[in-house]
Amino acid sequence: MKNSGEIWEIVETKRDAFFELSDRVWETPETNYEEYLSSNEHALLLEREGFRVTRGIANLPTAVMGEAGEGGPVIAILGEFDALPGLSQVAGLAEQRPLTEGGNGHGCGHNLLGSGSMLAAAAVKDYLEKHGLKGRVRYYGCPAEEGGSSKGFMVRAGVFDDVDIAISWHPAAFAGVNNPISLACNEINFHFSGRASHASATPHLGRSALDAVELMNVGVNYMREHMPSTARIHYAVTDTGGSAPNVVQARATVRYLVRARNLPELNSLVERVKKVADGAALMTETTVRSRVISGDANLVGNTPLESLMHAQLERLGLPDFDQADHETARKFQETFSQEDIAASYRRFNVVPKKGQALCDSIFPPDSGDGSIVGSTDVGTVSWVVPTVQMRGATYAIGTPGHSWQLVAQGKLPAAHKGMEHAAKVMAGTAIELISNPDLIEAAKADHRNRLDGIPFVNPIPDDVQPPLPENTDV
Ligand SMILES: [Zn+2]
Repeated sequence: MKNSGEIWEIVETKRDAFFELSDRVWETPETNYEEYLSSNEHALLLEREGFRVTRGIANLPTAVMGEAGEGGPVIAILGEFDALPGLSQVAGLAEQRPLTEGGNGHGCGHNLLGSGSMLAAAAVKDYLEKHGLKGRVRYYGCPAEEGGSSKGFMVRAGVFDDVDIAISWHPAAFAGVNNPISLACNEINFHFSGRASHASATPHLGRSALDAVELMNVGVNYMREHMPSTARIHYAVTDTGGSAPNVVQARATVRYLVRARNLPELNSLVERVKKVADGAALMTETTVRSRVISGDANLVGNTPLESLMHAQLERLGLPDFDQADHETARKFQETFSQEDIAASYRRFNVVPKKGQALCDSIFPPDSGDGSIVGSTDVGTVSWVVPTVQMRGATYAIGTPGHSWQLVAQGKLPAAHKGMEHAAKVMAGTAIELISNPDLIEAAKADHRNRLDGIPFVNPIPDDVQPPLPENTDV
């Protein structure tokens, strides 16, 4: 604990290069396994900082890992750098205006996420060297968090096998450590095949794959009444088989995203969805083939790690927002609905304050209101390594997720301050863990207890290839 001040100072002296990295990644928004420029920028800065760098880990061309230190425990700090399609937006402007029409944008703040995590890892590296401490710190630059499940493929490849603890963060409206519910999920394509025919002259000879897709969707919609209320099922018809109504469609594809509270519930729900697909094929005399595209496990919390990180945060205090930051945030708030702002407070169980635009309190670790926040591939890591994540306050209260407003705030001084703040908490947490092996043991015991012998089944089966741009056969 006595060391926190020193590690925080190291973060401060190093921060500028990492603010620049974040801004450069913001300027080249790339999506889902196409993050070549962003990944390269991460690798170059890791090399400049003196890390031992491996590019293309787990056979993912845009995944990168840097390691420093010798012996001792291995602390992984996880980062991301992927953007979202269609969210291009001029930086700093509280009015929707694309920078590039139809272009990508950093609508989830992953430009900050990766840079902040690497800043923490670089500070830990310097601290270990300076004090001659045994221990290794690794920065994992993980691509394609938005639907690509790269961490699941990385887990499958064994890149976390010798890691003792994993640490991460995510940009948010408030700072704190809690354990929101993230759902286990599987994304699966169902390809139906039938027989084409003239829809009027010989309709009796056709077997419609599109009919099968429609019947499958009806069947799954009836199933909703009889599944756990925390589960979610979404679908998109990705191939209708063609645009000619006078042809019986011989092929059609529907993509399902099935989510459930944990891996065992997910697996049983996926089996039921597959039965509905089989039923639709039987009814239409078509055939169906299913193919998993990606999947995430649910997040497994860790009480000792959450307490440790929260204590760091309490000692450090809030990000250093000034009057100008608050005024800018207020301009963005004028573009939000009252519901957006109320939802932001509710999610972190913070009492709303009139006129407040930026985070001014740290939410307590037990403030999880049970709200479901979707899925993340950090979940899969958390099944194999005790994992802790904080929320860092980087944008105005009420900013909708995946929105142009979030993109616009990604390079503001408040975003940089929130990122530096998160880096200090993560670096301080890592140093405490390396200095106190008992803390690592406590985290591992908590991890074992929570999983209670439930075997880990990666939601990405062994034969599934990552959805890289060149792997189109999904
Ligand atoms: Zn995100």
